[in-house]
Amino acid sequence: MKLLVRGAAVAALVILAAAWAVWPAAGVPILVYHKVGDTAEAYSVPPVDFERQMRYLADEGYTAVTLAALVDHMTAGKPLPPKPVVITLDDGYADNYTAALPILKKYGLRATVFVVTDFLDERPYLTWDEVKALRAAGIEIGSHTLHHRDLTTLPPDERARDLQLSKEGLEWRLDAPVQFLAYPFGSYDAATEAALKKAGYRAAVGTAVGLNRPGDDVYALKRINIPRSRWGLGEFRLRLLRANMYARLGI
Ligand SMILES: [Zn+2]
Repeated sequence: MKLLVRGAAVAALVILAAAWAVWPAAGVPILVYHKVGDTAEAYSVPPVDFERQMRYLADEGYTAVTLAALVDHMTAGKPLPPKPVVITLDDGYADNYTAALPILKKYGLRATVFVVTDFLDERPYLTWDEVKALRAAGIEIGSHTLHHRDLTTLPPDERARDLQLSKEGLEWRLDAPVQFLAYPFGSYDAATEAALKKAGYRAAVGTAVGLNRPGDDVYALKRINIPRSRWGLGEFRLRLLRANMYARLGI
């Protein structure tokens, strides 16, 4: 019985691998990281693993594009390079600058960092100078709100203020438009989406798993969470595969 179960599992894996190889991707994956460091938290990916994953993307012919390019594609049909991927990092940890940036640069990969503006200039978060340096290095900067509070629980006027002030604060300091937001805790509803549009955001990312296609709601972009890996690179590949399967099944 045990052997039979194992056989079935292996067969399923072979079928999945074959499907992965044969079918083109059903949309664009957006990866989400948090810390790139050696601390023991589940959301902290060691730099050695991060590098392995970035090298895998580069070796497999992925091109890391900005969220702006993805949203232009989804809303206006602008073409994307073959095998596009968007790499995002949430919360604005200092290691995004010290550990992730050198690796991204090494493999020629772009990324988007979502910062919580009131957390900046206090460790373990980025300083404003580091945020500016990230932007100067071609990293797209987005808002992750003022205080990382759940937007769906805030009174409407406070929510509007948060969305506006975090955007304006970044734009003023960076002297560049800030068009994208990552929902704290991945939490949003219709009223939050409406408030985002009103505040002038072009799109937003959540935490629902899947890929992104033209016609999808750009204020509810799906992502693939990449936590600290327990089983190496295979786990990273399986996470990409799972999102592809969800997209195909319309989940
Ligand atoms: Zn967050």
